[in-house]
Amino acid sequence: MIPTLTGTVAAAELGRTLMHEHVFVLNAELVLNYPELFPVEEMVARAVTVLEGVKATGIDTFVDLSVMGTGRNVPVLKRIAEQVDLSILVATGWYTYHEAPVFAQLNGPGRLFDGPDPLTEMFVRDIRVGISDTGVRAAVLKCSADRYGMTEGVRTVMQAVADAHLETGAPIFTHSDTGNGTGLAQQDYFESRGIDLSGVVIGHVGDTTDIDLLRRIADRGSVLGMDRFGLESRLPYAQRIDTVVRMCALGYADRMVLSTDSSVFSMNFPDEHRRTDLPLWDARAIMSSVVPDLLARGVSEAEIETMMTGNAARILAAGRK
Ligand SMILES: [Zn+2]
Repeated sequence: MIPTLTGTVAAAELGRTLMHEHVFVLNAELVLNYPELFPVEEMVARAVTVLEGVKATGIDTFVDLSVMGTGRNVPVLKRIAEQVDLSILVATGWYTYHEAPVFAQLNGPGRLFDGPDPLTEMFVRDIRVGISDTGVRAAVLKCSADRYGMTEGVRTVMQAVADAHLETGAPIFTHSDTGNGTGLAQQDYFESRGIDLSGVVIGHVGDTTDIDLLRRIADRGSVLGMDRFGLESRLPYAQRIDTVVRMCALGYADRMVLSTDSSVFSMNFPDEHRRTDLPLWDARAIMSSVVPDLLARGVSEAEIETMMTGNAARILAAGRK
């Protein structure tokens, strides 16, 4: 069984799943020190409205990949989930583009204060026991690499994610940057740790139109995160559609998941900018725009079903210990 914010769900009952989304993208320091930047009651109400809208489009499960470093706030998410008929899965991990958090630089095996790796212990606890006192268990692991590449800090987090995966079997989702080959480097690292890449989703590779790169990543077993529909600043919508159409024609429907990586509220993307410049960057757009546009371009109902339902069930159920 797969843990959600409100209980558990069987893989066969996950249904249509958005594999890389966020309810909130926050900064925990800002929430703590400038609470007016995150008016909780207003945000809970907004999230309930948006997520009910997501459900109304035909989505059953929403994977929230906010982790530490992006202000994961499970008590608030739990309140929202209790009001929405949607299975919401949460993640554990640490989001960084360069440094690991200082406590993880100083504490751990071979570090200034020698001992067990604190990040690994936290991730395993989140998966096995639950997050703080919420009783909510994390369903997946997440790590990131971006424009700075595979820095020491990025590797510190990846090592903890790999160790937690080997202990728990929870699938790994990444944030990568198609501009600098970090998706392949993430695969190299996880492969070097003996991890089956079929349980690793390489995120944000839908930002490229480079079919050869996508095939290289998929041919090693990983699933491709075609997961930023509507984020025009990285790649226009039409080109994202085109790339998925081409990959389906090449037989890769079983190696792609469709999502938006958007959020109900983000401290990084002003509401006004999203409203005016990114109208399709919305989790409701997968079923209302992306799927109809793919069908119109000749992608089959069966391929849509594979990308929206089958792949999610396979990845989220695989290897769980
Ligand atoms: Zn994301």
